[in-house]
Order: sequence, then structure tokens, then C-alpha cells
Amino acid sequence: MEARTLFPPSRDAALERLRDFLPKAGAEYARKRNYSLPEQGHPHVSILSPYLRHRMLTEEEVVQATLGRHSASAAEKFVQEVFWRTYWKGWLERRPQVWTAYKAGLAQALNRVQSESGLRRGWEEACAGRTGIDGFDAWAQELVQTGYMHNHARMWFASIWIFTLRLPWELGADFFLRHLLDGDQASNTLSWRWVAGLQTQGKHYVARVANISKYTEGRHRPLHQLTAEPEPLSGVPHPPLGPMPAPPPPRREAPWALLLTEDDLSPGYLRKALDHPPVATAVITGTAHRSPLATAPQVTEWCAAAIAETIARHGAWTGPVTQEPQDLAAWAQGLGVSQIVMPYTPVGPAADRLTAQRAGLDQAGIALTPVLRAWDAAAWPHATAGFFKLKTKIPTILAELRGLSLAS
Ligand SMILES: Cc1cc2nc3c(=O)[nH]c(=O)nc-3n(C[C@H](O)[C@H](O)[C@H](O)COP(=O)(O)OP(=O)(O)OC[C@H]3O[C@@H](n4cnc5c(N)ncnc54)[C@H](O)[C@@H]3O)c2cc1C
Repeated sequence: MEARTLFPPSRDAALERLRDFLPKAGAEYARKRNYSLPEQGHPHVSILSPYLRHRMLTEEEVVQATLGRHSASAAEKFVQEVFWRTYWKGWLERRPQVWTAYKAGLAQALNRVQSESGLRRGWEEACAGRTGIDGFDAWAQELVQTGYMHNHARMWFASIWIFTLRLPWELGADFFLRHLLDGDQASNTLSWRWVAGLQTQGKHYVARVANISKYTEGRHRPLHQLTAEPEPLSGVPHPPLGPMPAPPPPRREAPWALLLTEDDLSPGYLRKALDHPPVATAVITGTAHRSPLATAPQVTEWCAAAIAETIARHGAWTGPVTQEPQDLAAWAQGLGVSQIVMPYTPVGPAADRLTAQRAGLDQAGIALTPVLRAWDAAAWPHATAGFFKLKTKIPTILAELRGLSLAS
């Protein structure tokens, strides 16, 4: 099935999927989530990731709805998985050098692909699903066709890519990022690093035949096809922890323009931070810039449709919309505003594009003011070490957020 049929790019579709999944978000999810069953439509996981990735549906909404339906202990596993996303985002935000290093590693690997024919062949066969490895080829093809892959299959796939096919991990992360509808700079880069043994240093994930066979209900069994006891990759130590982002609040009464990226398509929360609607809206996206190679057309088309739906959903509130202005400063000056307000854009392709506009904005005296969501502000301070540290804080974070929503 095609990506747009599987994941209609609208908030209504996201809400409907959440409603359908909620009965399964408790004990059933904890028991069955590791089964990768594409031919049954992945019945044991939420398949909400493209919506969460673009915040057409927020983590807070999903967790609140889950806890409205199940006890905290029954929902524990699903809630923790949603927090994995928040954790990776917070972790990368405090160590943006890891994103920069990934891009440099990818550029190097792509250069090698040009000059080493063996590597080029191996990479092309892996991306096309023509390796002959049972399971691996089917997952590659599922990804290219649908824009989705189950979490367990992503782990097996990455492990086989790195340890059996011995391809550079950055090429695999790039293949995912170009094809996943939920392709996310933090979850993707850091999960690939985790499988390789670079994230939790010295601890890697090794795909095993028995595990693949069990969790695909016997559909795949790559007997004698996998490297059995590979060594983890070695890398440099993590960079030191950077500060928690603390952007100054927008000037409430001043006229403002809205900037949207693909990172947060629920900008309604900005209404609370400002007294008036925006004078106008601009859209700048990083979707086509996820890689030096072309992002899959179904991904760019999906994101464009999701953004169009977001704008339509907000009706007259956004004012006139300009797509991809070349010069943000000139656009804002033309509107007579001196502040552009936006949902906080984390490290990644969209933020990279905005960095290129910074000097022009500073020169023109135009403030670019990102507004951090309460969810990220509450969770990211705990995304400093391993996931366990954040996991133990989940009840505290949720209590803090409940307090905030009662107060507002
Ligand atoms: C190598 C590799 C690459 C990955 N790349 C991405 C990526 O680019 N974008 C992405 O959103 N996820 C990524 N993941 C995490 C995970 O595989 C997907 O979030 C999940 O498969 C999405 O399917 P779902 O919505 O049915 O998940 P469910 O199991 O229903 O989980 C609900 C939500 O929780 C979040 N979540 C669940 N598991 C994880 C996890 N391990 N890490 C981060 N968030 C999680 C997702 O937002 C997901 O939609 C990657 C995992 C691996 C091993």
C-alpha cells in the first residue's frame, strides 16, 4: 500500500488512528509490540509515528489519551516508548555536534561510494532489497513502498546493515531518513548509533535468527546468513552536555509573523503566548534537505500535504501564507514586523536552513523567537544521560505538566 493511503496526511486521520489504537495501548501493547507483521497491517503497534514526528498529534495528547483509558501501570510500556522520542530529541538538542558529525560522516561515505565500486554495489543492493538475506530485503522494500518500518525490523535491519553487510552506518541512517515518513534527525541518527554500539558505547544490538523468526511468526528465518558475534563499532566520546535551550519569550503585544517548519504542525499553542493573530505566515521546511541525496518524493509530498492541511485547519488565523521565502528578513520587513515567532525547531534539517538566514535577520534587527513547548521544557532537562534517568522521572514530568495545564 502507498504511503498516503496508509497515512492520510491530516489531523483527523491521526486522531482516528489514535482512537482505534487506544484499546490496545495497555497490556496488549506491552505483550505484543515486538511482533513485526506488515502483512497484517502492524496490528500491535500504533503506527502513529508520521503524525508524532511532525507533531500533527503531540506526545502530550497521545499520552493523555492513553492514561485516560488505561491505568498508569497498564500503559507504562506505551508511555515509555513515546518518551523515547522525547528523550532522543532532548539528548541531541544538548549535543548538536553529533548531528554535525553524522552529516560529515555521511558526506565521507558518499564520497567513498563514488570511488569504491564494491561499496557502491553493496549499498545499492541493500537499498533495493536485493541482498538475498531473508527478511532484510522485504523490510527494505516495505520501507521504500510505504514509508514505514516496524521498530523491531528497524533494529534487525540496522544490525544486518552494519555487522553483516559491513556498510557504513551513516549510509543506512541516510537511507532511512530519505524514505521514512517519520524520518527524524534525533530518533534515527541516535538509534542507528545505538545499534552500532556508539551511543551506549561498547553495547551494540545483534540481530539473531531465532529472534527474527519468533517475532515475524516464522515468516523470515535468515539461517546462516548473519554475522554471529560481531564487535561493536568504536567512536569518539560523547561531546560535553550543552545548556538547556531557554529562548526569551515573544513580545506579547507587538505585531508578529508566524514561521512554520515541518517539526511542529500544531502551532495553536502559540496563541497563548501572544495577544494577536500573526500578520502573515511563512513556511520553510527541511524535508527535501534531509540528505545530500534526494528525499523520496512520497515523503516530500506527504509533508507538503500535511503542512497545507495544517494551514487550512487554522483558517484565517495564519493570515496570508508565503512558501519558502528566499530572504526571511526582507519578508518580515515588507510586513512591517520586527519579530517572527515559531514553534521551537530542534537540531536538524529545518534548523540548518534557518541558521543560513540568521545573519540577515540580525542585520535587519528582526527577532526570530522560538517558543518551547511545556512538554519539552519539562522532559529535556532529564535527557542528559541514558534513557533510564528520564524514565524514572516520567511520573514527575507528567505531574508537572498536569499542574501547568490546570494553571493555564
Ligand atoms: C534504526 C532505527 C531508526 C529509527 N528511526 C526513527 C525515525 O526516523 N523516526 C521515528 O519517529 N522513530 C524512529 N525509530 C524509532 C521507532 O522505530 C519508531 O518510532 C516506531 O517504529 C514507529 O512506529 P509506531 O508509531 O507504530 O510506534 P509505537 O510502538 O506505536 O510507539 C508510539 C510512538 O512512540 C515513539 N517511539 C516508539 N518507539 C520509539 C523508539 N525506539 N525511539 C523513538 N521513538 C519511539 C514514536 O513516536 C511512535 O510513534 C527508529 C528506530 C530504530 C531502531
